Amino acid sequence: RTVYVNGDYVPEDQAKISVFDRGFLFADAVYEVTGVLEGKLVDFPAHAARLARSLSELDMPMPMPEADLLAIHRELVTRNGLEEGMIYLQITRGAADRDFVFPKGAEQGVVLFTQSVPGLADAPAARRGIRIVTLPDRRWGRRDIKTVQLLYPSMGKTAAKAQGADDAWMVEDGHVTEGTSNNAYIVKDRTIITRHLGEEILHGITRAAVLRMAEEAQLKVEERPFTVAEAQAADEAFVTSASAFVMPVVEIDGTRIGSGTPGPIATRLREIYLEESRANAI
Ligand code: PLP
Repeated sequence: RTVYVNGDYVPEDQAKISVFDRGFLFADAVYEVTGVLEGKLVDFPAHAARLARSLSELDMPMPMPEADLLAIHRELVTRNGLEEGMIYLQITRGAADRDFVFPKGAEQGVVLFTQSVPGLADAPAARRGIRIVTLPDRRWGRRDIKTVQLLYPSMGKTAAKAQGADDAWMVEDGHVTEGTSNNAYIVKDRTIITRHLGEEILHGITRAAVLRMAEEAQLKVEERPFTVAEAQAADEAFVTSASAFVMPVVEIDGTRIGSGTPGPIATRLREIYLEESRANAI
């Protein structure tokens, strides 16, 4: 597999990054994950816009114009013959002597790689639905910035798997914030309920697309916090992300949701999302 590191396309086993890179030492880096369907990028402009915002919140510039970033994404898709999966992009503040103060004049690090996930769109998990456990949300307070500090979510997903579940939803002040790497939704009486945007959650690109599609399909949407008990009493639940699209949830903390199988609204939204994403990918 070919990866992109600071201006060069290199075989993955020859890629090098400084041990002084601040992404490595301080998690001083932001990232994006863009879905790939039929060799094309899903919602790239929205990912580029969120990247620019994450960088700006951390006083970092965009390292290159959006068009150049797009060209690198496309070049990697071509070089690796990627049909279905995702592209990971990470931008770090760069390498500098270890110091808590942001260094001046460090050269930003830019890394991209592809990950092939054959059968992503036709995932068996989507037909079965996933099981969720809940955990306290112990992440930092700026979850709207897509930084690479993923240790707590990584612990959470590992703990969920150890308990025989598929993923975890995190709970703060009695309300669900989001999943370890996805946004969380419930459906009650044909109304979709998902937490409002703020600093407590990542502003999912898939979330924005799916809420727009839901409104186009005449479904009601309420953006507000919900409790675990409300979720357990819901008709349906699901999560969204760039690499899982719309994924039905069938169990929360051992309680079956609805019939215990993927709900009709989650299933329909997944179909619509995949259809529109295939049609609009670039
Ligand atoms: N929330 C968190 C914490 C995430 O890590 C992610 C994706 O990685 C999402 C939500 C979903 O965002 P997107 O739809 O842009 O992939």
